[in-house]
Amino acid sequence: MIARWRRLSLRARLTAALALIFGAMLMTYALTVYLLIRDRFAAELDHRLDQELEIAERSLGRDADGRLVWQHAHEPLEGEAERLRNVSWLDVWSADGQRVVRRQDAATASGETPVLPLDAGWTGLRSLELPGEVHLRLLQRRVTLEGETLLMRAALREDDFARGLIVVLWVMAGGLPVALLIAGAGGYWLAGRGLAPIQRMAIEAERMHAERLDARLPVANPFDEPGRLAIAFNALLARLEAAFAQLRRFTADASHELRTPLTVIRSVGEVGLREPHTEAEYRDIIGAMLEEVDRLTLLTTMLLELTRAEGGRTAMKREPFDLRKLVEDVAGFLAVLAEEGRVRIECDLPTVPVTASGDWTMLRQALVNLLDNAIKHSPPDAVVAIACRTHADRAEITVADQGPGIPAEHLPHVFDRFYRVDVARSRRDGNRGGFGLGLAIARWAAEAHGGRITAESAPGRGSIFRLVLPGAIAPSGSETKATP
Ligand code: ADP
Repeated sequence: MIARWRRLSLRARLTAALALIFGAMLMTYALTVYLLIRDRFAAELDHRLDQELEIAERSLGRDADGRLVWQHAHEPLEGEAERLRNVSWLDVWSADGQRVVRRQDAATASGETPVLPLDAGWTGLRSLELPGEVHLRLLQRRVTLEGETLLMRAALREDDFARGLIVVLWVMAGGLPVALLIAGAGGYWLAGRGLAPIQRMAIEAERMHAERLDARLPVANPFDEPGRLAIAFNALLARLEAAFAQLRRFTADASHELRTPLTVIRSVGEVGLREPHTEAEYRDIIGAMLEEVDRLTLLTTMLLELTRAEGGRTAMKREPFDLRKLVEDVAGFLAVLAEEGRVRIECDLPTVPVTASGDWTMLRQALVNLLDNAIKHSPPDAVVAIACRTHADRAEITVADQGPGIPAEHLPHVFDRFYRVDVARSRRDGNRGGFGLGLAIARWAAEAHGGRITAESAPGRGSIFRLVLPGAIAPSGSETKATP
């Protein structure tokens, strides 16, 4: 049942629910109205009986012989005569049980309504059903007329009243399905109108595919629910479009980067095969080819690292370690490189441990990339300064060089993948990176630790790269150590 209900369209379900609620409300309303009308009718009937007896009481008198008679001398109040004619019948009994007066309407007189015998045992109101489906309402009361106690009884047929009620019932019974039908049709129309934008969105969304991510859903009204859904969906599409575009760029850049060393290997090989060479020449050729193979290996490793990292598939460790140790380790690792370029590395480290929690290998790679760049871009006899500072809520490692700096227009992009400021110069760096991936990897490592990397630079005034990691304790004091 529930499964079948769920399979219905939202429009059908809304219509059914609306009709159901409306139906229940209408039924309750109709029942209340019916009960009220019935009570009102019944009260009215009793009131009329009471009035009949009152009028009758006033109309009774005695003739010269002392017999009870219907006195017409007394001028009835307006409407009284008319009322007396409405009563089915009216009896007056004397105290000894003799019926002294009887008035009855045409139907009663013709014998259709059996006349009830005296039952002096009760007074008040009573309903009676007589043979022949005759429903009567009786009012019996004792009155005293000139010292004599009389019993008066008035009776009214309830049939008129019942007929009125039946008409009310019929109107309600007939009106209910019509009202339900109107409610259902109205609900169906309203639901249709309300859901139309969603329907249009569904049609539009079905037409979309990966190649058409620039398409957007129509927003009929940005303030209502379908409008907000469309806006949210469009924002999602925009993000997807950007992600797809980035992926496409990445694939194109990666293939381009991979093709260059392959072309070099191929042409070196072809040159080698074209004519005979000496052993030394062959060694050179193979050496050149292996150099490119090294570049290829490095590039594929970096690409793999990046894609794994961005796919969130690298298992990140969370271990506490001393950031000073990390800085010393990286400075030691690149000391030879610095020596080759006649660059001096200066470390400015606090005297007490700076405990950071994270993945040593990842952060080491990030710092290697920063320091490697600094050394690469430093002129001979320049200084590269690494400093480790702690603040209440973060630790900072800065790598400052005295290189050419980065032009302002390139600065916002240096962390993008495959972004290089000077492509020609980067390629000359041989197998020391130069793919434009080093800073992208460093930024990813920082962000994976909840931190960030920022760059400050101006042409001719060197660059400062700042690696910020959250959650370190602030120690005091620092020492400066130089590595030639
Ligand atoms: P690459 O591996 O090519 O160095 P990176 O992502 O490490 O790629 O750097 C991106 C670009 O930023 C490089 O092309 C380089 O020109 C520039 N860059 C990075 N670090 C420095 C620096 N310390 N001084 C000057 N330019 C830098």
